[in-house]
Amino acid sequence: MDEMKMSDPECILQCGNLLTEEDSTKEHVILNAIGGRKTVTGFICTRCNQNTGRLWDAELARQLNPLSLLLGIKRHRGRVPSQVFPTSGDEEVQLHSDGRMTIATPSYKETTIGNIKQLKLRARSMRELRRLITGLRRKYPPLANRSVHELMATARGDSYYSSDMTEVTLDFGGEKTGRSLVKSAVALVYDSGIDPQACDLAINYLSTHNAKPCFGYYYDGDRDLVVNRPLEKPLHCVYVRGRSDIRAILGYVEFYSLHRMLLCLSESYSGDDFANLYAVDPVKGEELDIEIDLDLSMPDIHSAFAYERFDDRVRQSAVNSLFEYIVKSNFKRSLDKSIGDAVKHAFDNCDAEHGEYLTDDQLQRLIKDIMGKMKPFIKHNTESFGN
Ligand SMILES: [Zn+2]
Repeated sequence: MDEMKMSDPECILQCGNLLTEEDSTKEHVILNAIGGRKTVTGFICTRCNQNTGRLWDAELARQLNPLSLLLGIKRHRGRVPSQVFPTSGDEEVQLHSDGRMTIATPSYKETTIGNIKQLKLRARSMRELRRLITGLRRKYPPLANRSVHELMATARGDSYYSSDMTEVTLDFGGEKTGRSLVKSAVALVYDSGIDPQACDLAINYLSTHNAKPCFGYYYDGDRDLVVNRPLEKPLHCVYVRGRSDIRAILGYVEFYSLHRMLLCLSESYSGDDFANLYAVDPVKGEELDIEIDLDLSMPDIHSAFAYERFDDRVRQSAVNSLFEYIVKSNFKRSLDKSIGDAVKHAFDNCDAEHGEYLTDDQLQRLIKDIMGKMKPFIKHNTESFGN
């Protein structure tokens, strides 16, 4: 009976490892770090899963991090790391995964008016402020006369908005990122029940140093490969299609509706036709029903690989739609948070007992307090309207 048993398949990355029962690590088809949910198991060996995650996937996630932050992507584990951005002014800002914007580094400024010295401290959180105060008490003896607690009580927590334009880079590409996205397409071929070894061009690219990329960027003014593109929200997708008529396995990958790549995983495919799609709303995680057009000819594909299907106006229009969405959704995210914080703060400070009716006086104080807390939000957004 032993001869009947099929031998373990080899890891497709040609690392020499056989895929055994232990290699049932989950591999995300689209990285979870950018909002992908679907996984496949038994696709590559555990060691390659770790190595490619650390080298290729981490680089792709890093390049897309500004968009992941601006869109409020939620991960299964951990958070999208906060990131510092330059602005059109002199100050850098830091964006956080919960949508907050803060100063990039804590600071203090000393001013002297007459014979009065004033210290102005800015920190990103109360905890950071406490550390800053503790350090400064050693440097400024007069502060040492007052307790940290007493000094903390003079602090005011306000939402921070920079009136300068945040500069976000949208650079995307390079060998590591290229390999990560090609791996996504091969994972979906595997998910279709097709032997991933059929993707000879892709496997050569993934496992050979300096190999020729098996994809090209696709921004054609006359032909959007996402036929029924949803315009109201950004998407990620991976689509693979085996075509016996041209003996090819083609692929299409898109991230945040902005980065669009056409792939050719094999030009010597001898199997049956197949197609498989994974499209997802990266913000909500819901799968999307879209149609991808890969009725392209081999010359079409080669022209994309030669950068001949890169119409900058199409890419710019994708950037514009994405940022229109980001501005709208961040306004809503920031409004919800601002109201939530203000109401919580006001109730915490109005001395009302839980379950009791508020007195007129308490109600007046509550409203005043809410409006006070909302002021930075209102001020920032009315300034934006004015511009
Ligand atoms: Zn391997």
